[in-house]
Amino acid sequence: MKIKDDKNGNIFLVVSIITIIAILILSIILINSFIDLSKINSNTIESETIQYALDDYKKNIAIIGYESLKEISEEVITTKVPLKDSKKEIKNRIQEKLDLKSLEYLNSQNIHITSHITNIANDEDPFYIDVTVYINAYTENSEKTNYRKTVMEKISIINLKDPLPVLKCGNDESFSYNQTHVNYGNSLANYLKLHDQKNYEYYINASSPFIIKKCIYDPYIQHGIGVTMKNCVENCYYHESADGTCYLHRLEGKGDCLDYGMETFIIPAIHTPNLQATSASDHVIFGYNSYPGTSFTFNTYDGINEVMFLDESHKSKYGLL
Ligand SMILES: [Zn+2]
Ligand SMILES: [Zn+2]
Repeated sequence: MKIKDDKNGNIFLVVSIITIIAILILSIILINSFIDLSKINSNTIESETIQYALDDYKKNIAIIGYESLKEISEEVITTKVPLKDSKKEIKNRIQEKLDLKSLEYLNSQNIHITSHITNIANDEDPFYIDVTVYINAYTENSEKTNYRKTVMEKISIINLKDPLPVLKCGNDESFSYNQTHVNYGNSLANYLKLHDQKNYEYYINASSPFIIKKCIYDPYIQHGIGVTMKNCVENCYYHESADGTCYLHRLEGKGDCLDYGMETFIIPAIHTPNLQATSASDHVIFGYNSYPGTSFTFNTYDGINEVMFLDESHKSKYGLL
């Protein structure tokens, strides 16, 4: 019996030891997995924080981009000095502002964000400019998790001022502008005379839009219907045009460029149809190859004709033939 008891005691001891070892192993496994889990959790939280900051930063590119374009265009209009390289100037201005934004993230959230603008280009829609930015983000405690991303933001140019008329005619003292229109006084007639255009005097006191607005009458062929053309002129709209100048080149004072751009109409102060003078599209007037058009009435009020000069090709584009 004694031996049996001893045997039982031994078995109990062995079983106890095995159980303790098993519990120890299990605990170690559990503790390890808890550590892993909390690590994953903190990593997830951290990656979510960075992701959130990146999304927010991305939104800021569009706002900062528009602010920069607005500032630059205002400066060009005030100084009447064209930009030498609009892409470079825009790039530098946006970069400065993005660097300041990065500093804000570092100070407030301890997130390091560095960004580098890799490209400024015309969008396929000439009413937008594309800004491409390479972004790198990390936090101090992140385990070397760098978030790298290249993003492209479309920056609208709508409601910005058009610097082209100011850069072409703004030095003439009879030139003026208000919140909606450019009034050329004698400046445009002088400009056209200088460029050997016939009947330049018809453009004395002509006017044109000053703020970029996209024409809502698209397809453009409907300008020939009813009062559409009158409404278009009154609303100071701009149109897409393969021959028209893009906004980037307008900032450089170029009247035409190879990009897919925009055009608007310059309206003379005369009221007589069937006269000949330079065609009214701003890329024809300010471009290298100016050509004539015939004045036609697009609206009549109180027996007075509102006319503009247009060539056949533009008349066809706008459904006016
Ligand atoms: Zn229009
Ligand atoms: Zn261009």
